[in-house]
Amino acid sequence: VVERLSAPPVNGPVHFSVEFFPPRDAEAEARLWRAVRVFERLDPAFVSLTYGAGGSTRDRTVRIAGEMATETTLVTVAHLTAVDHSIAELRSLVGAYADKGITNLLALRGDPPGDPLGEWVAHPQGVRYAQELVELIDGLGDFHVGVASFPEGHHRARDLDEDTAVLVNKLRAGAEYSVTQMFFDVEDYLRLRDRVVAADPEQGAKPIIPGIMPITSLASVRRMAELSGSVIPPAVEARFAAAAGNGPEEDRAAVRATGIDFATETAERLISEGVPCLHFCSLNFTKATCEVLGRVGVDVRAAMVAPAVG
Ligand code: FAD
Repeated sequence: VVERLSAPPVNGPVHFSVEFFPPRDAEAEARLWRAVRVFERLDPAFVSLTYGAGGSTRDRTVRIAGEMATETTLVTVAHLTAVDHSIAELRSLVGAYADKGITNLLALRGDPPGDPLGEWVAHPQGVRYAQELVELIDGLGDFHVGVASFPEGHHRARDLDEDTAVLVNKLRAGAEYSVTQMFFDVEDYLRLRDRVVAADPEQGAKPIIPGIMPITSLASVRRMAELSGSVIPPAVEARFAAAAGNGPEEDRAAVRATGIDFATETAERLISEGVPCLHFCSLNFTKATCEVLGRVGVDVRAAMVAPAVG
């Protein structure tokens, strides 16, 4: 990942990457693959596949990540969480990824299954924090590990200082970059970047890749914010609420247009601040992300020849 980011972007003013989630069934998997093929034409710096909480999804995740790595030209990052896994299981998962040629892993603690804001209980033979997972993976071979970062602070952190210290420790443990949770205010991203540089200039030189989710529905973004314990700022909420209107159902076209505008403004500001890459949470759709990319000057014409998804 870092190697890709160190070369200049070829088709626009900034690198971009795309996050997918594991599909639940064959139909969703077909849609995922259509989206993967659209983005492949745009040469993203990398793509990533999240790691779910459930057992069967987990097996599918490993298989699909492997197929992405071997059957496409994409640099594939597999997310890995510590939830409900013993260290032995984590080792064998890392081995399974390595067997499929995946050396880029995003090391995460994960949230408690069921209620993401509920009490976190470590597996008795597992790890407690993402930092330990970084160390575990690094000890298993030649992997490139990334971690999560939180512009608004992780909801369980006591304060932003503790949150920064946790990130710096994950980077010191061997993580090469971080990808942020989506955020609503670019200032929060910039302050996080400043805090890490101030805490440890060496670690502060590692890429902090901002996560962007083009909002296409007010209900889903409210749910997303709730699940991650983040707060939608009143001005942003008001902007989207105005677009949604007062009818019994939200005006989806207006919310979507506002979401594309908002993501574009966020991306433009981040580009002007010199971010290394924009990481799009695509939700396995292509249209909204391609629209934002096109508006910030990435050449998305190659995607137009394939049918869009979503
Ligand atoms: P950690 O870094 O371990 O931090 C967890 C909490 O513990 C924080 O509050 C931190 O402050 C605290 N902490 C850490 N170390 C210490 C210490 N030594 N002492 C005291 N406190 C400490 N979830 C999934 O289930 N699957 C995914 O694929 C997934 N992908 C994600 C991708 C990104 C880019 C992001 C931002 C999040 C993702 N998540 C995913 C969600 C993530 O798992 C949760 O946000 C989780 O609550 C935190 O994970 P972490 O890796 O940051 O944990």
